[in-house]
Amino acid sequence: MDVDGKTRLYGIVGKPVSHSLSPAMHNAAFQHCGLNKIYLAFDVEDITGAMAGLRSLGIGGVSVTMPHKQAVIPLLDGIDPVAQRIGAVNTLLIRDGAIRGYNTDWIGAVQALEMIADLSAATVLLLGAGGSARAIGFGLKEKGVQVIVANRTLAKGQALAGELDCECCPLAEIDHLNVDALVNTTSVGMAPNTAATPISQTLLENIPAVMDIIYVPSETRLLREAKEVGCKTVNGMYMLLYQGVAQFELWNDCDAPVEVMREALFSRLGSSS
Ligand code: NAP
Repeated sequence: MDVDGKTRLYGIVGKPVSHSLSPAMHNAAFQHCGLNKIYLAFDVEDITGAMAGLRSLGIGGVSVTMPHKQAVIPLLDGIDPVAQRIGAVNTLLIRDGAIRGYNTDWIGAVQALEMIADLSAATVLLLGAGGSARAIGFGLKEKGVQVIVANRTLAKGQALAGELDCECCPLAEIDHLNVDALVNTTSVGMAPNTAATPISQTLLENIPAVMDIIYVPSETRLLREAKEVGCKTVNGMYMLLYQGVAQFELWNDCDAPVEVMREALFSRLGSSS
């Protein structure tokens, strides 16, 4: 891609960001679509200063990652209502100097889950009550899904369930539940602790579909054991992909080249599954 005087700049702001796969995914998509745009990673400590820079430099849009997903909200000119309810923003769209915030994490998670489960009239067990659980919980509610939260720290699970207006089940009692899908949003099983799993395999026998939002490793112990007992499964790489697809479509007036983005992402994560 030739960079010239008309090239528009996009990027990701966070700290750290050097490990981010978003530049590979978005640059592949820009290039495939013949867009005169590039996407870079910005290691940012001072988010207030960065926001002023985004405005004055005429940057088209950015992804926002930890630790700025909440801190960015008071600095926006506008916010999407779902992002407002979630209380976290992972995407900025900048037009004529005005910055509007969105959350595409929930869209990515819901689209990934829809690969293995019919969410109409579904009940989904959400394991965890951290930042990702919050975004996914609000997203599932947005889709009309019945959500049940279960978390190691019961009080945190109850607090999230209160905000989502849904049930909270103590982890020790989830064997009594009848659900259509399970989503693991905890970090249990993430590299380097790949021998860990958040729930025992016997509990998976009655759950038709299991999604793990962890993407390193691409197949966690939870997903391996779920496959062994016949569950449909999807890994966290698809949530990552579809949150990026939704970002691309916010920034550009065209459909995202999903297969190009998938290849760019999955080849770097060392799996094509
Ligand atoms: P977070 O806000 O720190 O929440 C962590 C959650 O994991 C909490 O519910 C915590 O429970 C639970 N947890 C941690 N250690 C545990 C253990 N040993 N046993 C049981 N529960 C445990 O983290 P997050 O930002 O939501 O991220 C969670 C995971 O999602 C990470 O693995 C991250 O890589 C992944 N992620 C994936 C994507 C994607 O696009 N695929 C996007 C974002 C994040 P307590 O409340 O009891 O501490």
